[in-house]
Amino acid sequence: MKQRTIILFFTLLTLFQAAAQEEYLNKKAEVNEKIYTGGIFHEVKSFPEKFRKKKPKNVIFFIVDGMSLPHLHAAMTANKGSLYVENFKKIGFAKTHSANNYITDSAAGGTALSTGEKTNNGAIGVGPDKKPLKTILEEAEDKGLATGLVSTSAITHATPASFIAHQPSRNMYEEIADDFLKTDIDVFIGGGYKHFTQRKDGRDLTEELKQKGYRVEQDMDVIQHITSGKLAGLTAKDHNGRIKERGDMLPLATNTAINILINNRKGFFLMVEASQIDWGGHAGSTIYVAEEMLDFDRTVGVALEFAAKNKQTLIVITSDHETGGMTILNGDYKTGMVQGEFTTGGHTGLMVPVLAWGPGAEEFSGFMENTEIKKKISKLLIGK
Ligand code: MG
Ligand code: ZN
Repeated sequence: MKQRTIILFFTLLTLFQAAAQEEYLNKKAEVNEKIYTGGIFHEVKSFPEKFRKKKPKNVIFFIVDGMSLPHLHAAMTANKGSLYVENFKKIGFAKTHSANNYITDSAAGGTALSTGEKTNNGAIGVGPDKKPLKTILEEAEDKGLATGLVSTSAITHATPASFIAHQPSRNMYEEIADDFLKTDIDVFIGGGYKHFTQRKDGRDLTEELKQKGYRVEQDMDVIQHITSGKLAGLTAKDHNGRIKERGDMLPLATNTAINILINNRKGFFLMVEASQIDWGGHAGSTIYVAEEMLDFDRTVGVALEFAAKNKQTLIVITSDHETGGMTILNGDYKTGMVQGEFTTGGHTGLMVPVLAWGPGAEEFSGFMENTEIKKKISKLLIGK
C-alpha cells in the first residue's frame, strides 16, 4: 500500500515536471522547418590575441543551450562559411552526463558548469543530496568582483538559475526568483518578470529589488543605455520571444552588462546564455537553430570587441548538452542554405565543444568532463 502511494507520487511528479517543461516546447507541432534558405549575414573580424597578463581579470562565460558541432556548423554555413567563434583557437570537448543520467537536462548541465559538481537532472545549484553547492558567481562575489547574468529565456530558467539559486527542482521558479535577492549580483537581464511579480506568496520582488538599490526595467530601449548602478532587466513576462520578436536583445543586453560590470576595478564574472538553440533542437527546426546560432555569434562579436580592447578578459564558450541529435544533410556556403535533420525531439549524450579566447585560454584544450570547465575558470579568476 505504502509502496503504491510512493509510486503514484513519483508518477504524478514526473507528469507534473514533464508538463512544466513542455511550456516552451509546445510550438513543436507547428514547426517543421528543416531547410534554412539563407538570411541576414554578418561580417566577422579577427581579433589579435594580445593580453596583458597570463591570468584574466574578467571572465565572460557563454552557455549555448543545446549546441554541439552540427548547430555550430549550421551557423557557419548559414553565415557563408565564417563565424566570430573562429577567433577561438583553444578548443576542447566536454562530456555532459549528469549524476543520475547519461543524458543530462539543463538544470544538471547548468549546475555542472556553475559549481563544478555533477548533480541529478532537475536540480539547481544543489548536489544529489540536495545540499547547496557554491557557484562560480558566488565565488566571484565573495572575492569582491562584479557579477552578471544574461539570458534569452526567463532569467529564472534552469541555465541562469544554476548560477544563483539553490533549489531541488528547476520548476520552483518563484523560489528561484527569491534567490536573486539573497545575492549581491550587479546586473541580470532576461525574461521571467512574472516570477518576480505574480507570486503565490503575494510579494512583489521588483519592489524588494528596488529597496536593495536595483533599477528595475523591462524595456531594452531603456536598458541598453544604462552604464552604472545595479540593474534588474526583466525583458519579458515569461521567456523572451524568438529573434523576430526580441530583435537584438542578446547582443544589446550583453553589451549593457559589460558596461555596468566594468565599473568594478577588481574585475567581473558574466554568464551569457543563448537559450533557444535548445528549443530549435527540440522543435526539429533548422531555421530556429540557425537564427539563434547567428544571434549568439553576433553576441560573441560584441564580447570580442570588448575583450580585444580590454586585454584582460577570458571568454569561454560551451554548452550544457546537445539537443535534437542534429545532423546536416546539405548546405551551400554561397547562399547560406543549410538543410538539417534531427534524430530526436530531446537531448542526446553527444560531447559539446569548449572554445576559449583570452588569457588562460590554453587551459581549455582537450577532452574534459563538463565539471572541469568551472574548476578551470575558478582557478584562473578566483585563484583556487
Ligand atoms: Mg537554458
Ligand atoms: Zn532542452
